[in-house]
Amino acid sequence: MKKTKIICTIGPASLSKETLEKLYEAGMNGARINTAYGDMDQYRLIVNNIREVAEIPVIVDIKGPEIRLRAKRKRIVKKGDIIEIGFKSEELSFNHDFYDKMDVGDEIYIDNGKIRMRIIEKTSGVLRLSVMNGGEIDNGKGVNIPNKQLSVPFLTEKDLKIIEFAKEYDIEYVALSFTRSRKDIENFKAESDGFKGAVIAKIENTEGLKNFEEILNSVECIMIARGDLGVEIELEKVPLIQKSIIKECNQKGKTVVTATEMLESMIYQPIPTRAEVSDVANAILDGTDAVMLSGETSIGKYPVESVLMMSRIAREAESATRSHVESEGFINVSDAISKAIQKICGNMPIDKVVSLTRSGYTARMIARFKISQPIIAVTPEKRVKKQLELVFGVYPVYIDYRGEKDRILAVAEKLRSMNLISEEDTVLFTAAFRTVLKHASNLIEIHNIKELINFKIT
Ligand code: PEP
Repeated sequence: MKKTKIICTIGPASLSKETLEKLYEAGMNGARINTAYGDMDQYRLIVNNIREVAEIPVIVDIKGPEIRLRAKRKRIVKKGDIIEIGFKSEELSFNHDFYDKMDVGDEIYIDNGKIRMRIIEKTSGVLRLSVMNGGEIDNGKGVNIPNKQLSVPFLTEKDLKIIEFAKEYDIEYVALSFTRSRKDIENFKAESDGFKGAVIAKIENTEGLKNFEEILNSVECIMIARGDLGVEIELEKVPLIQKSIIKECNQKGKTVVTATEMLESMIYQPIPTRAEVSDVANAILDGTDAVMLSGETSIGKYPVESVLMMSRIAREAESATRSHVESEGFINVSDAISKAIQKICGNMPIDKVVSLTRSGYTARMIARFKISQPIIAVTPEKRVKKQLELVFGVYPVYIDYRGEKDRILAVAEKLRSMNLISEEDTVLFTAAFRTVLKHASNLIEIHNIKELINFKIT
């Protein structure tokens, strides 16, 4: 069983049921819809297709304050070209109006900084730009304007429609682009009343980094969105920031996704570069829960091969993962229990860990230690089951054990009948017993499964 989770961005190259099935077989654990591209009909089609193919979470990535290009057609721009970009419905425009904030001499970057332009003139709501680095301009491409505070609204009209869609389809995760502070998450929650999924805060600019601690305390999941981050801050700072974000997420049992350009060359070629292979392996060794594919699976020529390659790299790197969590006392009962489980699993012949978890919290707290045993997270919540698909080393299972008198035995029998544990296995169970409090898994039982099942009979 592969422990690292793979998120695939779904687009024209992968939205058919047939390809989604192949991606799932190859190791996909979550499907992302990047709403910078496509329309509501396409999003509906993707969600319906995924739901028919696999029980994995859908991540709807909303763009919020992210600046994007609106282009009526694709075009190539070359160094030295002069182009005009407006803010209304011109051939080429931006999705947010920040005309007043721009000055002659400012630089504007497109497509994660691949295309670079400088403003040479500003007239009647249109910017004239000189191209310094050329490339292909297309609708939806991301725009970065480093070192400018552009007070653009956190949610656009389109985002609000997408939030309604996320509620209607009971989407498991919404990813918030350019999360700048806890306030952005609070604003999203206020605007999405009735949305029951979890929030992924995308860290991709200096404000998000500055307020990382408060953001981390407000969400269950973080995405290191390296594409924009590598334009908004100095590129060479990204690797160490990646390591420290992953470490802080592991410390608190928050799910962390490392994203962007992981196997970028596989958009066009069936084999990645050696540097890309090392990048994926290093993110796993850093302690990431999930790695994400973007263009590779949404528009690339080799979507299935990309997932197969990622799975192969993951399996290899997983043999060397270790905990980066620092022991600093106990913050709650689940924290204490998870630390005890790490110790037991490192020193006793335990085959599997089974966590009975309502919110998924204890399973995440155990998973952060990268123990060698598989963690079977049993939950009575279908949404939580899918959300846990993104957690390293966790195999989530839906079992509604709430009415059972002896939950451990009932779960053991069910897992045995599903062939997820065998009679020969020694299994460590953890659950919350005689409490309904949150974050309160307070019990550890270790059983040989044959003995446990027979114990009931005698
Ligand atoms: C990124 O910038 O790395 C990212 C994941 O965001 P998006 O794909 O939405 O640009």
